[in-house]
Amino acid sequence: MQVHAFVFEKAGPPTVMKWRIKELGDPGAGEALIRHTAIGLNYIDTYHRSGLYPIEFPSGIGLEAAGVVEAVGKGVTHVKKGDRVAYGSGPLGAYSEARIMPAATLIKLPKGVDDETAAAMMLKGMTVEYLINRTYKVKKDEWVLFQAAAGGVGLIAGQWLNAIGAHAIGTAGGPKKVKLAKEHGYEQVIDYKKTQNISDRVRKLTKGEGVPVVFDSVGKDTWTQSLDSLQPRGMMVSFGNSSGPVSDFSLGELASRGSLYITRPSLMAYTATRQELEKSARALFKMVTNGDVKIEINQRYALKEAPQAHRDLEGRKTTGSTILIP
Ligand code: NDP
Repeated sequence: MQVHAFVFEKAGPPTVMKWRIKELGDPGAGEALIRHTAIGLNYIDTYHRSGLYPIEFPSGIGLEAAGVVEAVGKGVTHVKKGDRVAYGSGPLGAYSEARIMPAATLIKLPKGVDDETAAAMMLKGMTVEYLINRTYKVKKDEWVLFQAAAGGVGLIAGQWLNAIGAHAIGTAGGPKKVKLAKEHGYEQVIDYKKTQNISDRVRKLTKGEGVPVVFDSVGKDTWTQSLDSLQPRGMMVSFGNSSGPVSDFSLGELASRGSLYITRPSLMAYTATRQELEKSARALFKMVTNGDVKIEINQRYALKEAPQAHRDLEGRKTTGSTILIP
């Protein structure tokens, strides 16, 4: 079977992604052939493409999609031909019309979750699940700071935090994004294009105390402000680098800022077993089907237009989730 897929042979700008015809064989033992109906765009795709996260070449790209199982290999019992499924993990290669995946990564979709929603939320939504349930268990009435609140992960997080009963402070670039974040669960949103000192605002909002946890995926540009927003013994959850990676950090600063904790988590480590993966996906499906979290698909591109989608994501032109349609 011949399909179109993006492949790239070297790291670089969006033009390194090449739209090629690929031959797919039959799925082997433990594998499934899935025909994609929608593919999720994630910031991590740009790190793989740009070389920030080194990978082996030639490579496919993309980690999140939904579709229909066309065939399964030996030993696969939890999914079968005709099932609607989705995934939010490697191996790289979601930017394709169809592909062969390790079946263990696939989750069957419940009736209440359509394919586009699934493609827009599996990776991002399970990330929110592990961050606020497991990396730091956010409690009712607790104040938290979530950077990049109007993005794909950010809009899901705001609604989930709101459902828990937490007081979420978000940050976003520009008035439109601030408004959007406010409509998605954030009690307060700081426009970090206007406000130089995020931590001062956070302290004012928390009666001088600061927050017990910061979720920061912006990296370099917000790092210091995030640390300055924490209470003594607070937890810095650094889970991305959209503005560039943090470097030159001295561990001693954790002591001088009041015995802080830092973690650099990844979804892969929190969904490493099939049991963890299923539990995380179930929690996400529950939040979405009961209406606590609405997945905002604010951009749709033809799959072939993926390089433009990368430009827009890196240019901070997107909000919420973005999907690519094969
Ligand atoms: P987003 O839709 O949130 O896009 C990134 C956002 O970051 C932009 O929209 C922009 O919002 C903000 N940003 C701030 N500074 C910059 C900059 N210099 N250049 C570009 N963007 C900037 O992406 P995702 O929802 O896909 O992912 C959000 C983050 O979470 C990423 O850093 C990603 O890598 C991380 N992540 C980590 C995971 C993990 O397990 N560790 C899993 C999933 C995602 P604004 O204009 O409002 O500033």
